[in-house]
Amino acid sequence: MTETTLTPTTEQIGELARLYFENLGATVRQPGDDFVVEFDGVTPPSWAEPHVDGGRLVAAATAEPAERAGDGPNDAGGATDTGERERPEIRPETAFARRLIDAAAARCPVGTASVPGVPGGVDSLVPAWLQDSPVDVASVAFHPYYDSQVACVWVRVEIETPSQYQRESLHTVVVDPETGARVDCDPTALFDAAAASESGADDVTPDPESLRRAIDEARDHVVAEVDDTLADVEAGAGRAATDAFEQYAARQRDRLSELRAERDRVETELASIGDRLGDAAGDDRVELLERRERLTERRAALDSDLSTLRAAESDGFPDQRARLRQRHAVELRTRPVAVTGVSVERGDLSVTVRADGRRETLDLSVGAVTGLRRTATCPRCERAFGRANGLRVTDDGIACEDCVE
Ligand SMILES: [Zn+2]
Repeated sequence: MTETTLTPTTEQIGELARLYFENLGATVRQPGDDFVVEFDGVTPPSWAEPHVDGGRLVAAATAEPAERAGDGPNDAGGATDTGERERPEIRPETAFARRLIDAAAARCPVGTASVPGVPGGVDSLVPAWLQDSPVDVASVAFHPYYDSQVACVWVRVEIETPSQYQRESLHTVVVDPETGARVDCDPTALFDAAAASESGADDVTPDPESLRRAIDEARDHVVAEVDDTLADVEAGAGRAATDAFEQYAARQRDRLSELRAERDRVETELASIGDRLGDAAGDDRVELLERRERLTERRAALDSDLSTLRAAESDGFPDQRARLRQRHAVELRTRPVAVTGVSVERGDLSVTVRADGRRETLDLSVGAVTGLRRTATCPRCERAFGRANGLRVTDDGIACEDCVE
């Protein structure tokens, strides 16, 4: 059973494709819904070769399956009946996307992108708790003071047991490589913003140490994310192992009764031979003696089988239990597929709030895409502002709801 959970978006696959092909040295353009790779002087990777024509690969980058003319989709992506090359699709769950993820995982390309300015507009940076507070936001200004990097890490997760279950998913996690903290930010929005930037990517490659840290952190986050799925699979595998064991134990109990019944028959027959031997003579006697010898051997073999089986039964069939446990053992594998270091502006967000004719200005440290870096705290009691503890404007300046009430 193969099941894909938490599928990435078409935009994420597109970004991964860009990263992968650019790392190979090819040029990537994305006019409209097309995804064009030019292999100028670069050898296309063998998995993509069937899609390459004249040093060029053209894929469709749309979320919906492409309309196919005629019958019989050609999943191998080779030539169609008309001799034209069919366009591979950059969309989750397609054969092309799957091969791309495999190929990227094998080399884990690292790239950079930059997001200039505040793509969502300055108002988008106002945190939700402040919008919920009983004050009006009069004005907002963003003063960038430096560029900071976040790392966007693709992690492939495989959960499988050797026997039956297999689940695979691709996760994208945005991490602050400085602190290792997960940044609450939609990776698709991040890449959209980077792609919209005319300036192109910075040439600042993340240093290996922060890359390693970002990858480790991303893996930890992903493992926590798939915890429920893992527990499901483990429970399923546990049930499968128990079922298989029950069936095995039932078969062994049947076998025990068969052996016992056969031993009883042998015993009865031996007793009857013993009775008849006294009166037998000549060939009859020889035949009976031979028969008794065979039956005695058979009884010894049955006794040996019975004692082995009884011992295994009273121990709870430990060998079989161990074999089944191994066969249904759940393995969780995480593999980094790609990393993009994205530089984003960080700065102060000056928010002027207004209530009852009073105005106050609050400075919050924010990332232009990634939102608040530190929690903002009440200047009087130093408790963090939040949804449950909104901001108020008093005669003595800013305070939290707790301080006012
Ligand atoms: Zn307070």
